[in-house]
Amino acid sequence: MVIDEKLGNDYIIGCECDDFFIVKRLGPSVECPHCGKTELPSAMLTQWTLTHEDVERAGSVYSIAAT
Ligand SMILES: [Zn+2]
Repeated sequence: MVIDEKLGNDYIIGCECDDFFIVKRLGPSVECPHCGKTELPSAMLTQWTLTHEDVERAGSVYSIAAT
């Protein structure tokens, strides 16, 4: 599960089951409403920071899904 895009305070999460959903607030864990898989937001945020540290506005978020 990865953060596909960040929109203000909302996060668009992409799951391995090819489902995408919006999380208003990242709690202790994020659960996919489609398949029920859970992920730690801290891990996703770390990945997001690593891939977007030089990007103010992520114009191409699909680079995440491609890796
Ligand atoms: Zn899922």
